[in-house]
Amino acid sequence: TPRIGILAVQGDVREHVAAFHELGVDTVPVRRPEEVGRIDALVVPGGESTVMDKLVRTFGLYEPLRERLEHGMPAYGSCAGMIMLADRVSDGAAGQQTLGGLDITVRRNAFGRQVDSFEAELDFVGLDEPVHAVFIRAPWVDQVGDGVEVLARVGEGPAAGKIVAVRQDGLLATSFHPEVGTDRRIHAEFVKIVSSRA
Ligand code: GLN
Repeated sequence: TPRIGILAVQGDVREHVAAFHELGVDTVPVRRPEEVGRIDALVVPGGESTVMDKLVRTFGLYEPLRERLEHGMPAYGSCAGMIMLADRVSDGAAGQQTLGGLDITVRRNAFGRQVDSFEAELDFVGLDEPVHAVFIRAPWVDQVGDGVEVLARVGEGPAAGKIVAVRQDGLLATSFHPEVGTDRRIHAEFVKIVSSRA
């Protein structure tokens, strides 16, 4: 079985570990550069992308992770993780960098103060039933490159139509947090992606 690493420098690492565990998939935490070579896929959790960015560089993880991503390692990012996997960030903090890989522009904290955090039912490409999505100071995707498939958009309200889930080859990202709650279909989708590319 593939070894899924969870980037464990900041954010909701435990929730992702538990989500994969429920699917019968073991994960390993990634905190040190030498651990990057031992994983087949990476999960970047939700949290705070500016802090994650700083810690990734402090711990010497930036170069090895970037290199693996450039060579096609599958990865899944939720919320701050989506920002970390994006090639471009609008409204990023000063000096904020990302690991990149996904040919998208994400807008950080896009939903604004009025709807800082909210939940919504989303149609999701490839899933029969809608996903109950939890958004917490979430980004949305402003722009996608040619190779990027849009998997979900906000259905209604002021942000209707905004892109909140994407896939590009082995890279998957959601603005929301499927690791929070009990629906494991998105984690299962990622396991499928990883297995099909192993
Ligand atoms: N607003 C956070 C950021 O900019 C993301 C929030 C989250 O992951 N729930 O990284």
